[in-house]
Amino acid sequence: MAGKPPQSDPVQDAPQVAEPKHAAAGLPAIGHTLRIAQRQMGVKRTALTLLRVNQKDGFDCPGCAWPEPEHRHTAEFCENGAKAVAEEATLRRVTPDFFAAHPVSDLATRSGYWLGQQGRLTHPMYLAEGADRYEAVPWERAFDIIAEELTGLDSPDEALFYTSGRTSNEAAFLYQLFAREFGTNNLPDCSNMCHESSGSALNETIGIGKGSVLLDDLYQADLIIVAGQNPGTNHPRMLSALEKAKSNGARIITVNPLPEAGMERFKNPQTPQGMFKGAALTDLFLQIRIGGDQALFRLLNKLILETEGAVDEAFVGEHTHGYEEFAEAARAADWDETLTATGLTRAQIDEALSMVLASKRTIVCWAMGLTQHKHSVPTIREVVNFLLLRGNIGRPGAGVCPVRGHSNVQGDRTMGIFERPAPAFLDALEKEFGFAPPRGHGYDVVRAIRAMRDDKAKVFFAMGGNFVSASPDTEVTEAAMRRARLTVHVSTKLNRSHAVTGARALILPTLGRTERDLQGGGEQFVTVEDSMGMVHASRGRLDPASTQLLSEPAIVCRLARRVLGEDSRTPWEEFEKDYATVRDRIARVVPGFDDFNARVADPAGFALPHAPRDERRFPTATGKANFTAAPVEYPKLPEGRLLLQTLRSHDQYNTTIYGLDDRYRGIKNGRRVVLVNPEDARELGLADGSYTDLVSEWKDGVERRAAGFRVVHYPTARGCAAAYYPETNVLVPLDATADTSNTPASKSVVVRLEQSTTN
Ligand code: SF4
Repeated sequence: MAGKPPQSDPVQDAPQVAEPKHAAAGLPAIGHTLRIAQRQMGVKRTALTLLRVNQKDGFDCPGCAWPEPEHRHTAEFCENGAKAVAEEATLRRVTPDFFAAHPVSDLATRSGYWLGQQGRLTHPMYLAEGADRYEAVPWERAFDIIAEELTGLDSPDEALFYTSGRTSNEAAFLYQLFAREFGTNNLPDCSNMCHESSGSALNETIGIGKGSVLLDDLYQADLIIVAGQNPGTNHPRMLSALEKAKSNGARIITVNPLPEAGMERFKNPQTPQGMFKGAALTDLFLQIRIGGDQALFRLLNKLILETEGAVDEAFVGEHTHGYEEFAEAARAADWDETLTATGLTRAQIDEALSMVLASKRTIVCWAMGLTQHKHSVPTIREVVNFLLLRGNIGRPGAGVCPVRGHSNVQGDRTMGIFERPAPAFLDALEKEFGFAPPRGHGYDVVRAIRAMRDDKAKVFFAMGGNFVSASPDTEVTEAAMRRARLTVHVSTKLNRSHAVTGARALILPTLGRTERDLQGGGEQFVTVEDSMGMVHASRGRLDPASTQLLSEPAIVCRLARRVLGEDSRTPWEEFEKDYATVRDRIARVVPGFDDFNARVADPAGFALPHAPRDERRFPTATGKANFTAAPVEYPKLPEGRLLLQTLRSHDQYNTTIYGLDDRYRGIKNGRRVVLVNPEDARELGLADGSYTDLVSEWKDGVERRAAGFRVVHYPTARGCAAAYYPETNVLVPLDATADTSNTPASKSVVVRLEQSTTN
């Protein structure tokens, strides 16, 4: 029988700390998976549901965006994928009675963990102006309330339409279509907070903001550099791919301020050998200083240029632009300062260089450790410089591999969820639907928060996600959200954003990825695009958690009809009935989706075109792959301060907290912990187990404090600390963003640690 949600809260945050682990997965992962799944779904449902995850006739994991291998295992999921599925397929329910028992003022005091553990939302819920309790409301009334507010705005640009990366291609395409027919490009999305820096850098340098690597390329590479990423927790099935690449002869360099168990050894539960002995993954661990990655790749590039015959002259000559200016800048790099910025030794750089020079097919994989800094875009450009120098783009086993965090975050962007849409996309939309879409750029996440703070945006609509917890500068963001006239969340489960509301609020419960989607045209499936540009179908198989749920496409279509009325010539009703009609339109508007319905009928799905990978053609401003020559930047640290990176625990997926443990790092039953290098702690007088407040320092002079963190002496890089978000998002200033991409700089926050004011 599935277990009851935790009653008491705050669930005791009393962290117990043990030695970090040096291997990921294995038997413990199976144990944890089954325990958490059974607690949410019971035994029978656990078996039924987990055996359908990532299967060709099943549903796509609502966790990360790691691709499916050609050959699917019976159990084609990881521990964290199982947790994501269990939370969605849980037997726990949040009914109108729950809201009757828990006023918003109470929900606002609850931890994210407790809120998420309450279960699936069952009914549309409305919080009237001045009220403190959500009450059930019919769907039609809900759409009326939204229409009232939207049509009452002075401008469509006073509305914000946020998207979280779980939204399917069909729902995302319809959502952007509605927002644009309504008259705005205010389409902030979670990508603004994660890989926007990757998109900005790659669009400029290779002409497409997506990775150029497919799974087969990983298996063929002879050198894989994994930088600023923790696959063991955030993309666990990537460890299987790295294990296979190693067995094919690849070598792996890991670049990270933190040693992570998953990159040390992977105990693959799919094989007895793997389960017990496992495979060592990393050949060279470069414990980089936070924000030192651009400096590292600049030094490698400098040494490649100084090594006879190391540059692929033929490729550089034929396919690139800007080589001379870049080479001059790289050769001029000051060794001492640049090396200091890395926090590494010359010997480590030389060892990395020897592995680079021995490689014929190199791939660089990265995640938030590279994208959430002020200088993230120049850092990723430098990674591209590194790959271009030796022709490692556009041939098997080589290329760029930004690893996406959310299951369809890349698909949403492809479908037009972007506040700065390309004119060609808007032209195609206008041609297909016969209305003039807005051309002015909209708000991304950070600008959307400012707009609400400054009363320029009055209606906030979110398709999934947990906006207030995912965003930086928590106090500013929550205050801004409370200034809205109406906040609406399309959600599957309860989260903090439901307790931080505008003057009035709506919660619209929707189907999960695991659930059957019956529409007028029969049973429907949706599609997603993974991190490597593979598009495939996802079919829910479970009965919906409530008869009151609507699918995301149905919600958008009904809202559009209610708001746009008779004037709209868009066939919203037809789209709601049969998603194949939506795919037919996608095929005519979005490049690469020709014959969409026929091609997605193939259980393996299809790969979207990628000109640099497929033809070594670079659709950039110069028509070539662009070298760039940005000055090397790195975070400077005042005396007695530390550089903090915010990160996930192993029991967490974005802002969803599955549990209070982070077992690979040796932490149990607590989240308010700060990992500090023992030498730094000694110099700062911070005993292991003592409590401290984290105070961030930013040029606006505002004091941002996160109180009551247990100090954990941990082998981080010197000067670098780490703590979990969303608890430490309060420390990240709204204006502390990456240049060009405007992504919050959550990975390099200057903090001082003060005597705790709470413990
Ligand atoms: S690796 Fe990612 S997509 Fe695959 S099962 Fe795990 S969480 Fe889900």
